[in-house]
Amino acid sequence: MDEPLPTESVPGQKPAADCDVTVIGGGLAGKAASLQLARAGLRVVCIGLEKAARQPVGESLDWSAPDLLSALGLPMDNLISAQMATWKRHVTLKSRSGASEHYVPSAWLAGPPFHIELRTLHVDRVRLDNELLKMTIDSGVTFVRDKVVGVEQKEKHIASVRTAGGPRFSSPWFIDASGFGTCLLAREFNLPAIKSGPAKVAIWNYFPVPASVEGTTLYMDPMPAEYLDWIWEIPISPNLVSVGYVTTGAAIKAEREAGLSVEQIYREPLMKFPHFEPLLRAGALNPKNVTSFQSRVHVGVAGPNWLIAGEAAAMVDPITSNGVTAALRHAAEASALILKYRKRGKLPLRARLTYSTRILQMAKFFNGGIENIVYEPPVRNRIGMGSAGTVYTSPAWSMNVVYARMKPRGMFSTFILGLLLGAFRLSAWIFYRICKQFKPAAELAC
Ligand SMILES: Cc1cc2nc3c(=O)[nH]c(=O)nc-3n(C[C@H](O)[C@H](O)[C@H](O)COP(=O)(O)OP(=O)(O)OC[C@H]3O[C@@H](n4cnc5c(N)ncnc54)[C@H](O)[C@@H]3O)c2cc1C
Repeated sequence: MDEPLPTESVPGQKPAADCDVTVIGGGLAGKAASLQLARAGLRVVCIGLEKAARQPVGESLDWSAPDLLSALGLPMDNLISAQMATWKRHVTLKSRSGASEHYVPSAWLAGPPFHIELRTLHVDRVRLDNELLKMTIDSGVTFVRDKVVGVEQKEKHIASVRTAGGPRFSSPWFIDASGFGTCLLAREFNLPAIKSGPAKVAIWNYFPVPASVEGTTLYMDPMPAEYLDWIWEIPISPNLVSVGYVTTGAAIKAEREAGLSVEQIYREPLMKFPHFEPLLRAGALNPKNVTSFQSRVHVGVAGPNWLIAGEAAAMVDPITSNGVTAALRHAAEASALILKYRKRGKLPLRARLTYSTRILQMAKFFNGGIENIVYEPPVRNRIGMGSAGTVYTSPAWSMNVVYARMKPRGMFSTFILGLLLGAFRLSAWIFYRICKQFKPAAELAC
């Protein structure tokens, strides 16, 4: 998995006049925003850590991500031919009983009048991120390996950021793409966060396979009285799969206190599925990648001369496969706003409001929906896991398509989008409450 990083230009101190935008964080959102701004002719400094806190993750893309990658210069066919990606034509949900459910977009959607692309991708994130880094540097972005440790601001107007290495970076505009663990500006400005569900932990590893399927597989053994834990299997390249286990932080804590090693915690759920027997027989699983996260979204993620993008703004639960789309969308919209208002030197209030509102509404829609319908027991106990998957997937997929087609930017389109998302959220919540009134109908569960 480890691939050498391309050479970067690492300057000393950047004089204020030399830089139009400072981007904090060199992950997916930071690189995508930097690239788009530099291509539009702006001078961009992107500050990223020497060693990222976690292995890049976000390998199973939803159906809106390919267009966003293509807009950056990474079309699907190129990613496939470079073996940086594999086709994702469906999502399969497999339960311990052997039952399985396939989620495939209907073929008629590909025809007129919709013309919707029915394929999407799984990506090798290390290779994709390196490719994006090369493109970013080639476009003229100055990449600085350092850690931003402080913000100088007056009345929410940012003047500069300070790094651990000493330099101070000033510019008229700032984008914070510092990810879930840092959330630099949300902390700086004490932005409220709306959380969904409990804190969770993901443990994952990569395994060679003789051949991979063209789809993401989710393995679940839902218990009628328990919050859901699940396993992902994602073919990131033709002969390599990513296998991850997601459960609550509380469950991991209890298991660690009971003396279980991370490998044992990872191995145990895999043992429930015969499919993983060859991996388990092969011996030590050595899961190297562990991360904790909490689905949440910050309120007010734009200020007079700054915007927050990616996981620093909203952490969308991984089971939704929507994090990469969200990060790329935020990056595209934040860059477009800077380009539109750069001469004015300040974002008008309506632009800040509409940007923040879209991020808030989309994150609440995905996180609220998946918690109520899939993670929590009432709905899946009532209608079965397979049907619960359909009830979640259909509006989630549709709303992504609506967003991509509608391209909401102004007050009116953001309002209409909000109405649609709000209606779905309300329906999910009512359905959840109704199902909660009934006793678990375990026999209905798949
Ligand atoms: C376990 C897990 C599984 C996931 N699976 C999927 C999936 O299948 N599909 C999907 O679409 N999405 C998935 N996601 C979400 C996806 O990974 C993210 O949404 C996306 O990669 C976020 O990119 P980002 O640039 O916002 O954040 P990051 O990729 O976290 O980038 C933040 C960057 O900022 C840098 N940084 C942090 N602090 C500082 C600082 N002080 N100074 C300078 N730089 C700093 C970090 O080093 C990092 O490089 C998953 C997420 C998790 C946690």
